Amino acid sequence: MRVRAQMSMLFHLDKCIGCHTCSVACKNLWTDRAGAEYMWWNNVETRPGTGYPTGWEDQDHYKGGWRRDDKGRLHLTLQNKPTGIARLFFNPALPQLDDYYEPFTFRYGDLFSAPAGEQQPTARPISMVTGDEMEIAGGPNWDDDLGGSQVYARNDPSLDGIDPDVRSQLEEIERVVFNYLPRICNHCLNPACVAACPSGAIYKRAEDGIVLVNENKCRAWRMCVAACPYKKVYYNWSTGKSEKCILCFPRMETGQAPACAHSCVGRIRYMGVLLYDQDLITAAAGAPETELLRAQLDAILDPWDERVVTAANAAGIDDGWIAAARRSPAWRFVKEWGLALPLHPEYRTVAMMFYIPPLSPVVATIERNLTKLDLPAERVDFELFDELDKARLPIRYLANLFSAGDEDVIRAVLRKMLAVRIYKRRQSVDGVVDDATVALLASAGTTPQEAEDIYRLTTLPTVEERFVMPPYHREMSIEAVNDPLRHKGAAGVGYVTPPRRGA
Ligand code: SF4
Ligand code: SF4
Repeated sequence: MRVRAQMSMLFHLDKCIGCHTCSVACKNLWTDRAGAEYMWWNNVETRPGTGYPTGWEDQDHYKGGWRRDDKGRLHLTLQNKPTGIARLFFNPALPQLDDYYEPFTFRYGDLFSAPAGEQQPTARPISMVTGDEMEIAGGPNWDDDLGGSQVYARNDPSLDGIDPDVRSQLEEIERVVFNYLPRICNHCLNPACVAACPSGAIYKRAEDGIVLVNENKCRAWRMCVAACPYKKVYYNWSTGKSEKCILCFPRMETGQAPACAHSCVGRIRYMGVLLYDQDLITAAAGAPETELLRAQLDAILDPWDERVVTAANAAGIDDGWIAAARRSPAWRFVKEWGLALPLHPEYRTVAMMFYIPPLSPVVATIERNLTKLDLPAERVDFELFDELDKARLPIRYLANLFSAGDEDVIRAVLRKMLAVRIYKRRQSVDGVVDDATVALLASAGTTPQEAEDIYRLTTLPTVEERFVMPPYHREMSIEAVNDPLRHKGAAGVGYVTPPRRGA
């Protein structure tokens, strides 16, 4: 067992109001520069929808992530060594500016300097690339709230496999239902961006798992842009270097949460440490599709296990980080409660940002049936949870997003969240927690004590409970650069072990 620490962010999707404050906070801090205008290291998408860049999940087109061959070996979907050399000069999988949008501003000065006339002056849109006047034809959240049209929902690649009748109902504008999906770089354990870079310019920091671009080494090949299946590396056309989310490491090194998390209006974001076993990354990335999620979760280690603590200390992880891992909301939601899932585990990059899937479109239907709690306990489970499969946002869709298509995983998560909701409602509105309610919790795999803990961390957490920041010791760090195993299907392995403190 080789223990590593990873800073992880959680997104509680039921709480996201789609306000984009996170995106603007990030933009103001990091990408308000020449060549970076079109970049949104943090973006918020309306789903079902096509997202940013448009259709980024269509890997037949963009060729991001990893594929597993018949012998269980991993290969970049984008290329092997010979095709990689050919693609240095022509790479058809690269997203074009139109796939993002042409960044624009307005000629505001005209509002003040236009000569007096009969018409009010207007501020014409101008391209931030060419400086010329332009017609605006797209934006990073062009399909916000579906833009009043079902077209965006219809083109969502994650709707694949949904029953055609359900799909056609979903596309009726009167019945359409959506939720928001905030996205940043997933700071993956097996990052395709790292593996694809011919210059060895991208690396994963050993002490906290943040994936960074060394711009001194970047040679503008843009393989990282194409290989990242989440399209979270961007090319700066002004500097000729790639850029990406840095998880606000300068903030984190001073004990502050990333700007997107800190500014989040819905308080949907949580930050914490996860300990993982570096030796299990290859297994986590290379497992058969039906076992991918379990294999990834198996690689995350229990910070309360003394064997893990001993191995963590031996690997140079100090007690402050282990204490933070024990209080980590990421640990609780991901492993202890099993409520948070990675986005598209089938991309095999072993993403380390996690999502609690949305229950909200289901709840209105379910709550109408609350009176069914008067049924015998053995019927309560069936009657209430059966409604999950009639939800307007199909379970299949959420499974395509968060569990490599495994609907049972999504059902289990939603059942537990629903059980907690019903339990708290019975307790606070009806003033009773009867045997039927406890039976309901048990059938969803939880207890009254755990339900209280989930409720507390979901609805009433303090800032210190949402953001459990570990004490950084940058003087001890050694970067994981030039990983010798990068092209052998496991980009995240091969770190140099930092020295123990005081050694
Ligand atoms: S492959 Fe993972 S780590 Fe690399 S840019 Fe994409 S999301 Fe981030
Ligand atoms: S700031 Fe928070 S609530 Fe608003 S869009 Fe971003 S993640 Fe959602």
